[in-house]
Amino acid sequence: MTTIYATSVSTMSSLTPPTTPRSGRVYNFSAGPAQMPESVLEQLQHELMDLDGTGIGLLEHSHRGASYDKLLHEAIESVHRVSGLGDDWEVLFLPGGSMQHFSLIALNFIPKDGFAAFADTGLWAHKGQIETNAVRKTKTVFDGASCRFDHVPSNAEIADCSGASYFCYCSNNTVEGTQFARPPQVNAPLVCDATSDLFSREYPLDAHELIFASGQKNLGASGICLVLVKKSFLATADKSLPGLLSYANFAKAESRPNTPPTFGVRVIGLMAKWLADHGGPKAFEALNAKKAAPIYAAIDRSGGFYRPSMRSDCRSQMSISFQLPTEALVDAFVADAEKVGLYGLRGHRDWGGIRACVYNAFPIHGSELLAQFMDDFKKARG
Ligand code: PMP
Repeated sequence: MTTIYATSVSTMSSLTPPTTPRSGRVYNFSAGPAQMPESVLEQLQHELMDLDGTGIGLLEHSHRGASYDKLLHEAIESVHRVSGLGDDWEVLFLPGGSMQHFSLIALNFIPKDGFAAFADTGLWAHKGQIETNAVRKTKTVFDGASCRFDHVPSNAEIADCSGASYFCYCSNNTVEGTQFARPPQVNAPLVCDATSDLFSREYPLDAHELIFASGQKNLGASGICLVLVKKSFLATADKSLPGLLSYANFAKAESRPNTPPTFGVRVIGLMAKWLADHGGPKAFEALNAKKAAPIYAAIDRSGGFYRPSMRSDCRSQMSISFQLPTEALVDAFVADAEKVGLYGLRGHRDWGGIRACVYNAFPIHGSELLAQFMDDFKKARG
């Protein structure tokens, strides 16, 4: 690692997350599983051996015991705190990532002869619609393929949703690097896949009926999904589903109708507490804007060497995606970046190019270093 990129910057204040990784660790721009707060990793490391002085490790505790009761209730409380959502919302933890929820939400909330409306804004929204189509009908009310997914739709661009059981959209398109500035206003209940930007900014979550997000990005562990659902919406769910497909059953059983992913629940609980303790979505919105800005500035001053595919009014503050003139330059960019401690920058396999994810736990100094690296790389190879 060259010294210029390894410059260390100290923590700005106790409320501000560390600005650099600890010695021996690198800047990890991975889209997910992604960089986590080191204080959370350390707490988990300790709890793996001994949770709360019980002499039993986190992975060894029964999901019916008092210790798990405590951490589950703490996790629910922390999610309420960081989300600002009240008691009229259920906080559920389900095994599996977010992909399976497209079909589960359909089974729970679309009658057999009904349909969901979808905004096809990118790879995950598209995959989600395909999953939904496996069990219920859908209607595409915005077709992003026609603009090569260069923007998310304005309200006026979304077709009529009347008759739909809900309108499903992806708040941040992790692959293409576009993000909704605010929830769309449509004539159907809102369902949001917020996997790659939940709790990263002030966003009116309560405009929705259901919001879901995998772990592995802003929530920490892969293989689990946080589902936030309005109790009044949940009351409309199909009651005849098998228990492990029913959100109402998960709510009734406190997310443990069977043995739950206890580790993932603990990680989400600690991540939510860490977010709330560091100022919550408002503070992270400001911090994340400061992380994204230098990278977009490097793109903008590159004279077309770095080529974002999205319109500038839809730029994501979480996942910054751009192309280079050739594949060989992409390979060189990724390899050279690793030499200076910047990892996880290769774009999604279906989209190519470079992608820098600066989720909540990503230390701010890393994005300044990436911007500097981009200038140097362009000078050397442009
Ligand atoms: N939705 C979005 C927006 C994503 O970014 C991803 C993963 N990158 C998924 C869904 C799928 O998540 P999982 O693999 O945990 O099911």
